[in-house]
Amino acid sequence: MGILSNLKPEPVFHYFEEICQIPHGSGNTKEISDYCVRFAKERGLRYIQDEANNIMIFKPGTAGYEDSAPVILQGHMDMVCEKESDCDIDMDREGVRLEVQDGMISARGTTLGGDDGIAVAYALAILDANDIPHPPLEAVFTVDEEIGMLGASALDCSPLKSRLMLNLDSEDEGYLLVGCAGGISAKGGIPVTRFSASGKKATLRIAGLLGGHSGIEIDKGRANACKLLGRTLYALNKDFPILLCSLQGGLKDNAIPRDATATLLLDADADESQIAERIKEMQQEYQNEYRKSDPNVTCAMTFSEAGTASAITPDIGKNIIAALVNFPNGIQRMSFDIEGLVQTSLNLGIMKTSDEEFTCSFSIRSSVETEKCALVEQLECLMESLGGSLKTTGEYPAWEYRPDSPLRDLMVEVFEDQYGRKPVIQAIHAGVECGLFAGNLPGLDCVSFGPDMKGIHTPAEVLDAASVLRIWEYTLEVLKRLK
Ligand SMILES: [Zn+2]
Repeated sequence: MGILSNLKPEPVFHYFEEICQIPHGSGNTKEISDYCVRFAKERGLRYIQDEANNIMIFKPGTAGYEDSAPVILQGHMDMVCEKESDCDIDMDREGVRLEVQDGMISARGTTLGGDDGIAVAYALAILDANDIPHPPLEAVFTVDEEIGMLGASALDCSPLKSRLMLNLDSEDEGYLLVGCAGGISAKGGIPVTRFSASGKKATLRIAGLLGGHSGIEIDKGRANACKLLGRTLYALNKDFPILLCSLQGGLKDNAIPRDATATLLLDADADESQIAERIKEMQQEYQNEYRKSDPNVTCAMTFSEAGTASAITPDIGKNIIAALVNFPNGIQRMSFDIEGLVQTSLNLGIMKTSDEEFTCSFSIRSSVETEKCALVEQLECLMESLGGSLKTTGEYPAWEYRPDSPLRDLMVEVFEDQYGRKPVIQAIHAGVECGLFAGNLPGLDCVSFGPDMKGIHTPAEVLDAASVLRIWEYTLEVLKRLK
C-alpha cells in the first residue's frame, strides 16, 4: 500500500508516488527518463529519448479519434531539490518522504516535486488507460526546466506533428496561462582610461532595497540601486566635482539590484558637512518616492583621508554617469490584450568597473518580439553615443498571446461547464517552456494549466489532492471534446 493509494484519481497518484521514489532534481534526470522509457516499452508505445534525457511518447487516437488532430501533453521531469537544514535525505540518491494531511500532499523536510511531477503522472495515467477517449497523443517530458529550460532548448521538435499543446506546469487551478514573455540578456561596455589623481577619497552607497525577480516582480515599482546611484552622482557632481574610481552594483541580470557602491575622489578641500547635508536630502527624496516599495532605502557617503587613486578620466566618467541616468529601466509598456500584464520591461541588473572598462548587464523581456528588439536597439544606440557598445546573449522567444485560439475557447467552455464559472485568462512576464515550443512549432495553439500547489521550490511545497482530481476530470473532458 502506498501512502497515496487512497487518493483519487488512483492512476495519477499511483504514477506520482512512483515518480516521488525516484530522485529527479535538475541535472539528475537519467533515472526518471529511463523509467519513462520502460513505461513506454512495456506498453508497446513508440518513444524517443534524446541525449539530454528528454522523452517523447506517442499513442494513437482511441476509437473514433483515429484521424483527429494530435495533441501534445507536456511537462518537465526535473524538480527543484530544497530541504530543511535538519533533513538528512540525500536528494541526489533518495526519493522524497510523502505525507498527506487534510488532503494536502507534501514531502517531509524537502520539496515535493509536484512541480512538475504531477504533469508526468497525469500523462502516464492517460497513456496507460484503455478507457479514456482521446486524439492521437504526443507526450513530451523535458529535463532541466528549473535551471534555464535546458531540455526544451535542446529538444528536436521535428517528430512532433501536433500544433495543439496542453502544458501541465501551472500551479493555480482556475487560471489558464496563454502567453509568456520572451527574453534576452544584453551587456553594455564603455572602455575606460584612467590617470593617477589626488583628492579626498569617499564612498557613496545606495542600500536597503528589496530587489526581487526582474520578471515576476518588475511591476512592484521597486527602486534599482544602480539607477539611484547614477542619479545621486549626477546631482552631486553639479555642486561638488567628483572623479569616479570604481562602480559596483547587483549580482545577477535577472535580479533587481539591492545595493550599489561608487568610490570617488572629491576636491581635497571639499566641505564634508555640506556634502553630507546634500546626501541626506537625497536620501529623504528617495525614502519619500519609494515609501511604499522600498521604505528602507539608504543613501550614504563615507569619507576617508586625502590621497591618490586611479581615477577614470573626467570625460569618460561623465559618459558613465550619463549612461546610468539615461538607461531605460523597469516597465516599458503594459499589455492592452491582458489587463495587468507587463508587456515589455528591462532590468539593469549588474554594473562593474575594471581597469579597462565599465560594464552593465540587462535582462530584457517582452511578450512582443519586435518590442524586445526595439529595446535592445535603444540601449545599443545609447551605448554607442557614449563611446561604448552592446552585445546580446541568451535570447529565447516569446509565447505571444493569440487573439484567435480555438484551444483556449474550448478550454474556457469546458471549464465553465465543469466549474460553473469563468477561468482567469492569464499571461506572465517571465519565460516558460511553452515559449520555446511556440518558437519551434509555428502556429502552435497552447494553454498551460494545472492543479493547486503552494510553496513550490521550497520545503513547504504542498499539492492539493482534490484539485488534482478536478484537473484530471477537466483534462479528460478537454481531450474528449478535441475530436
Ligand atoms: Zn515547473
